[in-house]
Amino acid sequence: MNVPLLDLKAQYQTIKDQVLEVTEAIYESQYFILGPHVDDLEKKIAEYCRVGHAVGVSSGTDALLLSLMAAGIGPGDRVLTTPYTFFATAGAVWRVGATPVFVDIDETTYNLSPDRLQETVAAMDEATRQTVKAIVPVHLYGQCADMDPILKLAAEHGWVVIEDAAQAIGAEYHGRRAGSMGDYGCFSFFPSKNLGAFGDGGIVTARDPAVYEHLKILRVHGGHAKYYHHYVGGNFRLDALQAAIVAIKLAYLDGWSAARKANAARYRELFAAAGLMDRIHLPVEKESRHIYNQFVIRVDKRRDALKDHLTAQSIGSEVYYPVPLHLQACFAPLGYAAGDFPVAEAAARSTLALPIYPELTEAQQAYVVDTIAAFVNA
Ligand SMILES: *Cc1c(COP(=O)(O)O)cnc(C)c1O
Repeated sequence: MNVPLLDLKAQYQTIKDQVLEVTEAIYESQYFILGPHVDDLEKKIAEYCRVGHAVGVSSGTDALLLSLMAAGIGPGDRVLTTPYTFFATAGAVWRVGATPVFVDIDETTYNLSPDRLQETVAAMDEATRQTVKAIVPVHLYGQCADMDPILKLAAEHGWVVIEDAAQAIGAEYHGRRAGSMGDYGCFSFFPSKNLGAFGDGGIVTARDPAVYEHLKILRVHGGHAKYYHHYVGGNFRLDALQAAIVAIKLAYLDGWSAARKANAARYRELFAAAGLMDRIHLPVEKESRHIYNQFVIRVDKRRDALKDHLTAQSIGSEVYYPVPLHLQACFAPLGYAAGDFPVAEAAARSTLALPIYPELTEAQQAYVVDTIAAFVNA
């Protein structure tokens, strides 16, 4: 049996007619950049995320970059974030000239640890603390970070909160949606995200109307009226084809997220039935709505050998992420060393994402668990 990590072809068949109809209309209109389809998607995403505003952008990475630029963060500034995330989270901080300050994660959720955050801030001298401008929590794998203490700390110091919600559209924390809690919410429409485009795309959510206006200006090179520039922005535009396709998919998103959650529940039953619960750590659902962009298990030993075993049995799996960001070669100038963030480092050595996509069948899941059991019991 073949079980890919993700199978987007099955999903495409269910929306194909709608996609072909809208994309053909856009071809006929020859109106490709921003425009009514982008406006429409922005309204729908803002509503879906229960936040005032949304600005369609070119990618999740650019959503982060644009948010940092809009928040006025640059050289000399520090930004607190997690080392256990996709590269773009800290890469964007670096690109605006600011310094990422890493903080270790919670070992059950893999999200930024509020306790470690408090400790990091408490250990800073006053001059250093003055240079901190923002916190960027990541809602990893589709589960929200523990936002209340993060928001409280930010409010105490007047820091901006930029949620990296690229993996978490529709996830909830105490009933609040990802992207509606901080000053900015950054989403990605990369095809492997729960709401994926047919190419690159992303969106920034914002609660404050003034922030929203500023984001829109920076998205088009900082020009208020065309060709009159009060700021230096960039080309961060979303195009009409991607926006129209994402808007079609948005109507199915809750159904797909429910199917992912049901698959997660079924994995729990299957792993329990196979007697593997003391050998394999399953994801811990802490927040009210986990949308399972990834279903990530932890094995204390031989993770890479397990991955090879699954590959040999035609089962897709992936390591998100093998190298925590403080140990990336490009961040060597920050001066971190192995051992600085032991929880993130242990996670990087022991986690493995299994197939969880909505169309996954019961038989495929049983095969995945049987294959893992054969490896663990060998
Ligand atoms: C995917 C992702 C991004 C970047 O999104 P792109 O659209 O690929 O640029 C940023 N942060 C996290 C946590 C992601 O998973």
